[in-house]
Amino acid sequence: MSIPFSSTELSNDLLTNLASLGYNEMTEIQAQSLPLMLQGKDVIAQAKTGSGKTAAFGLALLHNLKVERFRVQALVLCPTRELADQVAVEIRKLARAIHNIKVLTLCGGAPMGPQIGSLEHGAHIIVGTPGRVEEHVRKNRLSLAELNTLVLDEADRMLEMGFEEPLERIVADCPSERQNLLFSATYPKKIEQLVSHIMTEPVKVEVKSTH
Ligand code: ADP
Ligand code: MG
Repeated sequence: MSIPFSSTELSNDLLTNLASLGYNEMTEIQAQSLPLMLQGKDVIAQAKTGSGKTAAFGLALLHNLKVERFRVQALVLCPTRELADQVAVEIRKLARAIHNIKVLTLCGGAPMGPQIGSLEHGAHIIVGTPGRVEEHVRKNRLSLAELNTLVLDEADRMLEMGFEEPLERIVADCPSERQNLLFSATYPKKIEQLVSHIMTEPVKVEVKSTH
């Protein structure tokens, strides 16, 4: 069964832009997770690679965003620089309809100087890897005081890569009142511990692979 994005609470600007991107119907994981996220719930979403998870959380965080408030309101953490870059590209596409949204990537392995300069200019949305984001937070270059959406993308891989400690330190700097979204292709036992520290009564949705 296909469900159009227009059945959700998304703004007309976002809907028009989705149509221009050729995103007409929601993928299965989007249909299952987006309505819950738009209600403000903490959501754990599990579905295989290529199922449209980025747009699911991207639309949810854009829905929450106040453009006129030029503060970091959403943080997306990814396991690698390549994935963070892909997520930033997708969020910028989804945000095209809303003018002047600033998305900044902060990844390890990239030179520090330009990141520090960009942080001085500010951003609405940060996409980055846990180690580097934690370093900017620790050195008071990045304030998460006004964060309202925290996304852990490919959480299984972040744990595999040993990002647990920086993740926990970043979370400690986030306001306690926030929406938490966790996206993953697999759901190993190890994630549950992280979830119990980070999320509040999360709803879990899962799209099972057919093969
Ligand atoms: P995942 O994170 O689950 O691996 P992605 O978010 O990278 O998947 O999405 C895979 C591809 O599907 C991307 O190229 C994206 O542009 C496309 N896509 C996402 N949602 C839709 C949709 N509703 N309709 C059409 N294409 C979509
Ligand atoms: Mg993904």
